[in-house]
Amino acid sequence: EGALGDKLYVGLFHPTAGPVNLYETRFASDKLRTLAMAENLVCPWPDCNVPADRCQVHHIDAHKHGGHTKPSNLTMLCKYHNGVNDDDGPRKKRKRPSPGKPKRGRMRRHRGKVRLHTPGGKLVGNTHHVSSMGAMNLI
Ligand SMILES: [Zn+2]
Repeated sequence: EGALGDKLYVGLFHPTAGPVNLYETRFASDKLRTLAMAENLVCPWPDCNVPADRCQVHHIDAHKHGGHTKPSNLTMLCKYHNGVNDDDGPRKKRKRPSPGKPKRGRMRRHRGKVRLHTPGGKLVGNTHHVSSMGAMNLI
């Protein structure tokens, strides 16, 4: 610490894509968590009523599949719905089907809002009255 001086800045730049984010992390910062809670005051899974402050931060595009820890890829989900969300989604073919685990759909961001993409292909939002007071419903 201090050996390289106070005025040293380090960055990585891709020749055609530009600056590279070197701060990719698995877990959301307090700022990211607060943004996600402001957007969804309750778990956005349809008919769920678990308040955001009792939810977990969820990667809409799974981190294990390259989903980034950034505001547009994060939402709050209660522990139960975070567990049943189909992280592998319909886009990827599973190598082996998971017997006994019915597909429940997965969260997606559609036109800026977080929706459940059902196994039947519908996009469904949570109609809980508190859900309509989230940040994306106020703009
Ligand atoms: Zn839930």
